[in-house]
Amino acid sequence: MILTINCGSSSLKYQLYSSDLTRVVAKGMVSRIGETGAHIDHSAGRERIHQDMVIADHGSAFRHVIDNLLHPEWGALTDIGLITAVGHRAVHGGDTFVDSVLVTDAVLRQLEACTPLAPLHNPANLLGIEEARRLLPDVPHVVVFDTSFHQTMPPSAHVYGLPYRFYGEHKIRRYGFHGTSCRYVSGLAGEILGRPVEDLRLVVCHLGNGVTIDAVAGGRSVDTSMGFGTFSGVMMGTRAGDFDPGLIFHLHSVLKLDMPEIERICYKESGLLGISGVSNDMRDVVAAADAGNERCALAVDMFVHMVRKQVGAFAAVMGGIDALVFTAGIGENSPYIRARIAAGLEFLGVEIDAQANADGNRKPALISPAGARTAVLVAPTDEEMMIARDTVRLAGSAHLLRLQDSPLSLLPAE
Ligand code: AMP
Repeated sequence: MILTINCGSSSLKYQLYSSDLTRVVAKGMVSRIGETGAHIDHSAGRERIHQDMVIADHGSAFRHVIDNLLHPEWGALTDIGLITAVGHRAVHGGDTFVDSVLVTDAVLRQLEACTPLAPLHNPANLLGIEEARRLLPDVPHVVVFDTSFHQTMPPSAHVYGLPYRFYGEHKIRRYGFHGTSCRYVSGLAGEILGRPVEDLRLVVCHLGNGVTIDAVAGGRSVDTSMGFGTFSGVMMGTRAGDFDPGLIFHLHSVLKLDMPEIERICYKESGLLGISGVSNDMRDVVAAADAGNERCALAVDMFVHMVRKQVGAFAAVMGGIDALVFTAGIGENSPYIRARIAAGLEFLGVEIDAQANADGNRKPALISPAGARTAVLVAPTDEEMMIARDTVRLAGSAHLLRLQDSPLSLLPAE
């Protein structure tokens, strides 16, 4: 079986797949690691459990996961040896990792070197990988990066207009995120349309609590809305998205806000929450707008406007689009937002079939009318499945790596 692990700063999500990846046999999440109120939600088959306990760190979280997977009542394994490979998510692979890789000591050192690029996320990812390797030392571990899909962006799309030395010496550039989701969704879009993804120009709208709009031409990411960090592009639940960076100097020097305060405001108090004053959740904001709340209506209008603007920009980047693809929490669940976004894009051949849109939630669906110039799709994302697929793909070559690591090896070193 294949185990996938996704460590956040205070959480650990896991899924256990059958070896052919057709079934999720167990899954769960450890929340509030190292905080008060730590707990585990675990399910396997029909069994569901909730455990409140003290969980000091990611190491002890991982040990509880293994205990649950082996538990005689609510477990899914009789022997830990049934786990044949482990796939890990990492947020930032810098410009070092252009694809997922098998974990080696050298890879961990390189991942650590990327930590300044994602100081909140990469340390948790590293901890998870190290602990998993300690508990499961004899199986291949694979790491999948949120940034690697976007490494195909050309320099004209990923270099910022700052002095070149910041790019050359400090690796300051557009990286992009949600790459694992965008890669999965691009493949699924090809499947829904029955066409090779290599022949398609897609704009993927990953609209969740975080938002990425991605231009995918021929299966490769060619431009993306997030940048050096997870901030730019469309306004999100609590993040402002694009605004004039000159404003930061104004907030600092005229309004006398200090940098940590500005950062908190931009990341945690802005976006849907900051405009609506009601919620960071699109469901609440739309409901309040319907009930007449004008700031909520403005928040929805701004969100829709920003997505549409980004789609138009990416159509220009690719010289047109073949399909507009909606995914993640808002994209998969809100016919209303999908219709609002599509309503301004008729000039690109985008049309929506109202009934197909209403019926199209949470499953792969074509929601444009037959014969439309541009297809509109709902393509539910599944980052864990993408991690599991990469793990299977790369774990097969693990024995080669062991040969390379062996002092007797005749193969060249990595
Ligand atoms: P994600 O980050 O992909 O899990 O998406 C979470 C977000 O999806 C939530 O914060 C909600 O704003 C949004 N969402 C989920 N269901 C709906 C819905 N039915 N209508 C609008 N937004 C939704």
